[in-house]
Amino acid sequence: MKIICIGRNYLAHIKELNNDLPEEPVFFMKPESALLPRRHPFYIPEFTRDLHYEGELVLRVSKLGKHISENFALNYIDAIAFGIDFTARDLQNKCKAKGLPWEIAKSWDFSAPVGTFIPISEFPDLSNIHFRLLKNGQIVQEGHSGRMIFPIPKLISYISRFITLKQGDYIFTGTPEGVGPVVSGDLLEGFIEDKKCFQLKIM
Ligand code: MG
Repeated sequence: MKIICIGRNYLAHIKELNNDLPEEPVFFMKPESALLPRRHPFYIPEFTRDLHYEGELVLRVSKLGKHISENFALNYIDAIAFGIDFTARDLQNKCKAKGLPWEIAKSWDFSAPVGTFIPISEFPDLSNIHFRLLKNGQIVQEGHSGRMIFPIPKLISYISRFITLKQGDYIFTGTPEGVGPVVSGDLLEGFIEDKKCFQLKIM
């Protein structure tokens, strides 16, 4: 199982990090060990002083696919969840400055907690999904899938040109604006539409 993460998929988030607008989707990967097992505590890793949340919609791949066309892309996912692409922003900024890969900032153990999956059959239109992240009860991120620069079918199609998608893979679809730090004691709660489907206490 693998986790593919899209970067720079919302304009306002690109601006808040002073990044360039991509011409094609940008993606990177996290290994299976980035998943946080259920009821496993989440501790801030010792190697960062600036751990950021990035709340994102997460797609679950339902079958094997390669060179998937956009027209049929939605046949290759079966559920959607709220997840956090945790990022050691201090390490990422060092990597970006040197033009180095991001893995030490993004792909460490437990960096990809994902909440409960909801079947996509519950969503009449995948380009019309609201989601939000609350930190300690305050809304810090509000996203809408219709504001993605590259919509879900394009992401699936594009990734599958390079990498075979397999049943059980996850695709993080990018974060909207409002990313920020967490400290020990914070409580994160994720919602898709009005359904709370993610909760994490930062230890
Ligand atoms: Mg992200």
